Amino acid sequence: MAAHIKFSQVSYTYPYSGEDRRTALQEISFELPPGEVLCVTGPNGSGKSTLAQLMAGLIKPTYGEVFIDGKRATRDLLEDFHSKVGLLFQSPEDQLFADTVWKDIAFGPRNQGLSSESVSRRVQGAAKLMGIDIEELGNRSPFGLSEGEKRRVALAGVLAMEPEVLILDEPTVGQDWENREHMLNSLSEYRAIHESSLVFISHDLDDALKLASRFLLLEEGRVRFTGKFSELIVSQRLLEKSGVGLPPVALLAGKLEGSGVPVDSPIDTLSISQLIREGVNQPGC
Ligand code: ADP
Ligand code: MG
Repeated sequence: MAAHIKFSQVSYTYPYSGEDRRTALQEISFELPPGEVLCVTGPNGSGKSTLAQLMAGLIKPTYGEVFIDGKRATRDLLEDFHSKVGLLFQSPEDQLFADTVWKDIAFGPRNQGLSSESVSRRVQGAAKLMGIDIEELGNRSPFGLSEGEKRRVALAGVLAMEPEVLILDEPTVGQDWENREHMLNSLSEYRAIHESSLVFISHDLDDALKLASRFLLLEEGRVRFTGKFSELIVSQRLLEKSGVGLPPVALLAGKLEGSGVPVDSPIDTLSISQLIREGVNQPGC
């Protein structure tokens, strides 16, 4: 079972960030219970990638505390925890480095000291999850692939390590519809098998909704909202102000309401599917 993570009043300021140096994250507090999916959203520059790097231990909080399973995180505790975290960088170029796709995906499991058979199994399993034809692409350079393929190879490399906490920085960017659906289904499958927690960073609430139970909205380095989607959606103005598009499911709710079909508030995907089923039998629809 994955660890329970708690951020308490965590702030981060980049060193050497010039004269207009400003704090990228300010007094961020949230919890990620074991096995939970948290969608982190917000406009560009709001601090999402900084939060991902803090969680993965690439940078350390300037102020504030992190708790792992209720214990204040000491250096040793954090080191142990970070070895169980898998981070997908926002830019796959920052993550890919080997001369073939196979070697790139195999790098993590090899470093974990697994046998060559186990490494092979992990590479094939992770490639399959990401819809990568390893027979065809295994010997190719990852740098010659499309943006979408690069991101899937990078994510396969993360999954191949079987981390218990996944932190994915905009994984669906550059994917066509089919690959996007495949990726989201594979992530659900992976989570079901490994009972892992997931931090899913996305502008696309529609994607996030397929996985996430809780949302954290960042704006200018501060938490503007944390809670369930059904609570987030009722503050439409908050989302519009942040430039985060409303998913079709929420737009549909608005249309149904406009046609005289009462929509319960708060709204969530389940109640919308129910509404669609019930709504077709209602007059005016
Ligand atoms: P997001 O992922 O939401 O777009 P980031 O975490 O990348 O946001 O950035 C948050 C803030 O930190 C922005 O103001 C950005 O300019 C700044 N920032 C990000 N990376 C660096 C860096 N390496 N050095 C200095 N400032 C940075
Ligand atoms: Mg970012």
